[in-house]
Amino acid sequence: MSIDTDRFRAELEQHRERLQKTIAHHDIGGASLTEETGELMSSSVDNHLADTASETYERELDEGLEEDAQQQLREVEGALERLEAGEYGTCSACGKKIPVERLEAVPWTTLCIDDARKLAR
Ligand SMILES: [Zn+2]
Repeated sequence: MSIDTDRFRAELEQHRERLQKTIAHHDIGGASLTEETGELMSSSVDNHLADTASETYERELDEGLEEDAQQQLREVEGALERLEAGEYGTCSACGKKIPVERLEAVPWTTLCIDDARKLAR
């Protein structure tokens, strides 16, 4: 097997955590998380005091992309499910293997570059 699934799993889990924090932070669907961190959240609604590590990341998402965070979270969770099912790294459109370089760039992708380009058109 050419794909290091452990590595991608770790990466995807890390990414999922960030997205979950971002979503909770923006209060767009993470009600329980928000409650758990209620102390922080109530001190300043618009204060970006999440982990400094994710600060830059969140700033990017702040630019009108909160909904994308939820969309991406679903994609990341889907990728983790495919990892568990042993289907990770296979294009969902044409069934070919997705090159590792592409998975490294976009670990949650379900499409090979050709099909991704087709969709983007
Ligand atoms: Zn394909």
